[in-house]
Amino acid sequence: MDRNLKSDLSVGILGGGLAGLALACLLAGRGHRVTVYERDRAGGKLRREKVGGLVFDTGPSLFTFPGVWESYLQRLGEADTLHLQPLPGGLGIHYTPFGPVPLPVPPGHPLHASWEKYRAKVQPLAPHIVSLLTTPPRLTDPAFLRASQALFNVVGPHLTAESWIRAQKLPPTLAHAIRTHALNAGLSPVDAPALYALIPALVSAEVFRPERGMGKLLDALLGFAAARGVEIQEGVEVTAVNGFTLTLSGGKTVQHDLLVSAVDPHRLAKLRGLPAVSPKSKRTVSGVAIYAALPERAPLAATSIIPPSNFQTFRAAIRAGALPPDTLALTHAEGRKLAVLLTAPATARPLGLGHPWVRAQIERVEQILGVPGLLASADEVLALTPGHYAAGGHPGGAIYGAALPVWRGGPFHPQPYRLTPRLWQVGTGVHPGGGIPAILGGALMVDTLLARI
Ligand SMILES: Cc1cc2nc3c(=O)[nH]c(=O)nc-3n(C[C@H](O)[C@H](O)[C@H](O)COP(=O)(O)OP(=O)(O)OC[C@H]3O[C@@H](n4cnc5c(N)ncnc54)[C@H](O)[C@@H]3O)c2cc1C
Repeated sequence: MDRNLKSDLSVGILGGGLAGLALACLLAGRGHRVTVYERDRAGGKLRREKVGGLVFDTGPSLFTFPGVWESYLQRLGEADTLHLQPLPGGLGIHYTPFGPVPLPVPPGHPLHASWEKYRAKVQPLAPHIVSLLTTPPRLTDPAFLRASQALFNVVGPHLTAESWIRAQKLPPTLAHAIRTHALNAGLSPVDAPALYALIPALVSAEVFRPERGMGKLLDALLGFAAARGVEIQEGVEVTAVNGFTLTLSGGKTVQHDLLVSAVDPHRLAKLRGLPAVSPKSKRTVSGVAIYAALPERAPLAATSIIPPSNFQTFRAAIRAGALPPDTLALTHAEGRKLAVLLTAPATARPLGLGHPWVRAQIERVEQILGVPGLLASADEVLALTPGHYAAGGHPGGAIYGAALPVWRGGPFHPQPYRLTPRLWQVGTGVHPGGGIPAILGGALMVDTLLARI
């Protein structure tokens, strides 16, 4: 077992979501023999579903920080097949209680000057953000030191998103819209690291989707995996991890030289027979994702964001595992396809379309967007609930994994990538932020660290 990790090893990866697949391709590219075990379908939270005869790519809908994807392709030596297209309207219109505001705020808008001031403040970090997302947080790494220095220069003494936003003295409409993006960490602004207050400026108009839908990202990873001989075993659940031995559903056991978990850390603890990390991660969010096939094109912007009207009330509810009176909602409209994502506490509840809270939130969204009864007019609707996300992920269905305290969150804190010398982990529960840039960046970091051993 003391063979150099750079040599031809047999690697077992638990979980065939985007993180597991992304790392599988990198390790197979280094000459290792890689097998991915996936309890369901490859893709994890990103999957294709047919609703009313239309194909929806469920799960992630916005592709941000494309520089991380470019770094990933560069490491693999692959060309880009995604043909990323900017989403019309960037981050979308934010319907705050103080009035609507599009982000980025366009010239001519009364809030444009305030937006530009905010953006200029964040700008010095922009050239470093890809480094920050892809470089292992090691004080010996000059790229990491430069990037974290740039981050500290912008956030100054502010630890949280809320503290940073308050210090900017922004007009209330803009401040409320920017606060909304703290929820990219699954946390409300007082719990999210200050970096999350900078996201609207860093992303700005750079919000993309592959030309033929998010499912193309999965297709690309599966293609890279096939080209490198990665074996993907779908419908095969890992039921126990004991040293280098995996027990699979059906009772078969297999051994590998190196294991990488790309499943939620709570699940991994259970598989290893360790006391579970508390499943009551109530400080973070799950969601109800509703996909509707409409009879005709919806009269809506590509992206609309309806923040909670009061972040304190929202935070108290999420932390208590209760349903917030009004929640963060996001809508995507594309032709006859409509997606509505409602933020809910990560309590694994099967909040279906008939649930009174879901009905009330839909009514609120439709009323604010001026489209009453839109969902009721749909030919067919599919709702994926926190119960669905809990089935293969965090026990409460948390979209971005369990919450970390603010001093442990953010990409410049070392994460538990290496649990034992031959058991590593990647994925949304390990990399703070948890979205596609964080998990692809996390796969690059773990690949870098493994190659150094
Ligand atoms: C509604 C929603 C909207 C989102 N929007 C965005 C967005 O706009 N932009 C963005 O960047 N990100 C977004 N995200 C987050 C993004 O989808 C995730 O970061 C990403 O898909 C997580 O990938 P993962 O591989 O870490 O985890 P997962 O996709 O959860 O993969 C884990 C895999 O492990 C498998 N597994 C679990 N246990 C076992 C076992 N014992 N044996 C074998 N296999 C097992 C599961 O079946 C699953 O396939 C969104 C997520 C959701 C749910």
